[in-house]
Amino acid sequence: MHCPFCNALETKVIDSRLVAEGGQVRRRRECISCTERFTTFETAELVMPRLIKQDGRREPFNEEKLRSGLTRALEKRPVSVEQIEAMILQVQAELRATGEREIPSRQVGEAVMTQLKQADHVAFVRFASVYRSFQDIDEFRAEIDKLSANDKPQE
Ligand SMILES: [Zn+2]
Repeated sequence: MHCPFCNALETKVIDSRLVAEGGQVRRRRECISCTERFTTFETAELVMPRLIKQDGRREPFNEEKLRSGLTRALEKRPVSVEQIEAMILQVQAELRATGEREIPSRQVGEAVMTQLKQADHVAFVRFASVYRSFQDIDEFRAEIDKLSANDKPQE
Protein backbone atom coordinates (compact mmCIF):
# COMPACT_ATOMS: atom_id res chain seq x y z
CA MET A 1 0.00 0.00 0.00
CA HIS A 2 0.99 3.65 -0.53
CA CYS A 3 2.93 5.47 2.15
CA PRO A 4 0.48 7.84 3.93
CA PHE A 5 3.29 10.37 4.44
CA CYS A 6 4.93 10.72 1.02
CA ASN A 7 2.60 8.56 -1.10
CA ALA A 8 5.46 6.36 -2.32
CA LEU A 9 4.37 2.98 -3.68
CA GLU A 10 6.93 0.83 -1.92
CA THR A 11 6.55 0.02 1.76
CA LYS A 12 7.88 -3.00 3.59
CA VAL A 13 6.40 -4.97 6.47
CA ILE A 14 8.70 -4.87 9.50
CA ASP A 15 6.45 -6.64 12.01
CA SER A 16 3.28 -8.69 11.77
CA ARG A 17 1.21 -10.11 14.57
CA LEU A 18 -2.24 -11.46 15.31
CA VAL A 19 -4.51 -9.30 17.46
CA ALA A 20 -8.16 -9.34 18.60
CA GLU A 21 -7.99 -13.05 19.40
CA GLY A 22 -6.58 -13.90 16.00
CA GLY A 23 -9.34 -12.16 14.07
CA GLN A 24 -7.04 -9.42 12.86
CA VAL A 25 -3.47 -8.99 11.66
CA ARG A 26 -1.59 -5.91 12.78
CA ARG A 27 1.32 -4.92 10.53
CA ARG A 28 4.05 -2.35 11.12
CA ARG A 29 5.25 -0.99 7.82
CA GLU A 30 8.10 1.23 6.83
CA CYS A 31 8.23 3.42 3.76
CA ILE A 32 11.24 2.70 1.58
CA SER A 33 11.42 6.33 0.36
CA CYS A 34 10.90 8.44 3.50
CA THR A 35 11.44 5.72 6.18
CA GLU A 36 8.29 6.82 8.09
CA ARG A 37 6.58 3.95 9.92
CA PHE A 38 2.85 3.27 10.14
CA THR A 39 0.46 0.49 11.18
CA THR A 40 -2.20 -1.33 9.21
CA PHE A 41 -4.90 -3.71 10.41
CA GLU A 42 -6.16 -6.48 8.20
CA THR A 43 -9.48 -8.29 8.71
CA ALA A 44 -11.20 -10.82 6.48
CA GLU A 45 -14.23 -9.30 4.82
CA LEU A 46 -17.23 -11.55 5.23
CA VAL A 47 -20.80 -10.95 4.20
CA MET A 48 -22.96 -9.61 7.01
CA PRO A 49 -26.73 -10.02 7.11
CA ARG A 50 -28.73 -6.90 6.29
CA LEU A 51 -30.60 -5.24 9.12
CA ILE A 52 -34.38 -4.89 9.28
CA LYS A 53 -35.25 -1.64 11.05
CA GLN A 54 -38.31 -1.40 13.27
CA ASP A 55 -40.26 0.39 10.51
CA GLY A 56 -39.41 -2.39 8.06
CA ARG A 57 -36.69 -0.55 6.16
CA ARG A 58 -33.57 -2.57 5.34
CA GLU A 59 -30.09 -1.24 5.71
CA PRO A 60 -26.60 -2.69 5.39
CA PHE A 61 -24.75 -3.63 8.54
CA ASN A 62 -22.45 -0.76 9.48
CA GLU A 63 -19.31 -1.62 11.41
CA GLU A 64 -18.52 2.06 12.04
CA LYS A 65 -21.88 2.59 13.77
CA LEU A 66 -21.17 -0.42 15.95
CA ARG A 67 -17.70 0.88 16.79
CA SER A 68 -18.91 4.39 17.66
CA GLY A 69 -21.73 3.00 19.84
CA LEU A 70 -19.33 0.79 21.75
CA THR A 71 -16.74 3.54 22.06
CA ARG A 72 -19.35 5.94 23.43
CA ALA A 73 -20.60 3.40 25.96
CA LEU A 74 -17.03 2.64 27.04
CA GLU A 75 -15.88 6.25 27.28
CA LYS A 76 -13.50 6.67 30.24
CA ARG A 77 -13.89 3.01 31.18
CA PRO A 78 -10.92 0.69 31.75
CA VAL A 79 -11.41 -1.17 28.47
CA SER A 80 -8.71 -1.10 25.78
CA VAL A 81 -9.18 -0.33 22.10
CA GLU A 82 -8.06 -3.86 21.41
CA GLN A 83 -10.83 -5.24 23.63
CA ILE A 84 -13.34 -3.06 21.76
CA GLU A 85 -12.08 -4.45 18.43
CA ALA A 86 -12.43 -7.98 19.81
CA MET A 87 -16.03 -7.22 20.83
CA ILE A 88 -16.81 -5.90 17.35
CA LEU A 89 -15.46 -9.08 15.78
CA GLN A 90 -17.40 -11.19 18.27
CA VAL A 91 -20.68 -9.37 17.57
CA GLN A 92 -20.18 -9.78 13.82
CA ALA A 93 -19.32 -13.46 14.19
CA GLU A 94 -22.50 -13.96 16.21
CA LEU A 95 -24.67 -12.22 13.62
CA ARG A 96 -23.13 -14.19 10.76
CA ALA A 97 -23.63 -17.38 12.72
CA THR A 98 -27.41 -16.86 12.51
CA GLY A 99 -27.04 -17.86 8.84
CA GLU A 100 -29.79 -15.37 7.97
CA ARG A 101 -29.56 -12.93 5.07
CA GLU A 102 -31.62 -10.39 7.03
CA ILE A 103 -31.99 -9.98 10.78
CA PRO A 104 -33.93 -7.52 12.95
CA SER A 105 -31.64 -4.61 13.87
CA ARG A 106 -32.39 -5.10 17.56
CA GLN A 107 -30.44 -8.35 17.38
CA VAL A 108 -27.30 -6.24 16.95
CA GLY A 109 -28.12 -4.36 20.14
CA GLU A 110 -28.71 -7.59 22.02
CA ALA A 111 -25.35 -8.99 20.84
CA VAL A 112 -23.63 -5.76 21.92
CA MET A 113 -25.25 -5.95 25.35
CA THR A 114 -24.04 -9.53 25.80
CA GLN A 115 -20.48 -8.34 25.09
CA LEU A 116 -20.68 -5.27 27.32
CA LYS A 117 -22.17 -7.24 30.18
CA GLN A 118 -19.04 -9.39 30.25
CA ALA A 119 -16.62 -6.51 29.69
CA ASP A 120 -17.86 -3.64 31.84
CA HIS A 121 -21.02 -3.25 33.91
CA VAL A 122 -21.06 0.55 33.82
CA ALA A 123 -20.83 0.58 30.04
CA PHE A 124 -23.50 -2.10 29.87
CA VAL A 125 -25.96 0.01 31.85
CA ARG A 126 -25.08 3.10 29.78
CA PHE A 127 -25.65 1.28 26.53
CA ALA A 128 -28.74 -0.55 27.72
CA SER A 129 -30.38 2.65 28.98
CA VAL A 130 -29.94 4.26 25.58
CA TYR A 131 -30.68 1.18 23.55
CA ARG A 132 -33.60 -0.48 25.23
CA SER A 133 -36.94 1.05 24.50
CA PHE A 134 -39.51 1.78 27.15
CA GLN A 135 -41.54 -1.26 26.20
CA ASP A 136 -39.06 -3.51 27.94
CA ILE A 137 -38.24 -1.21 30.84
CA ASP A 138 -39.13 -4.01 33.27
CA GLU A 139 -36.56 -6.25 31.67
CA PHE A 140 -34.02 -3.41 31.82
CA ARG A 141 -34.76 -2.76 35.48
CA ALA A 142 -34.42 -6.46 36.23
CA GLU A 143 -30.96 -6.38 34.60
CA ILE A 144 -29.92 -3.43 36.75
CA ASP A 145 -31.22 -5.10 39.88
CA LYS A 146 -29.22 -8.18 39.02
CA LEU A 147 -26.12 -6.04 38.52
CA SER A 148 -26.41 -4.08 41.75
CA ALA A 149 -27.11 -7.28 43.65
CA ASN A 150 -23.79 -8.85 42.75
CA ASP A 151 -21.75 -5.77 41.92
CA LYS A 152 -18.51 -4.93 43.67
CA PRO A 153 -18.32 -1.29 44.83
CA GLN A 154 -16.71 0.91 42.17
CA GLU A 155 -13.28 2.29 43.04
ZN1 LIG B 1 7.01 7.62 2.57
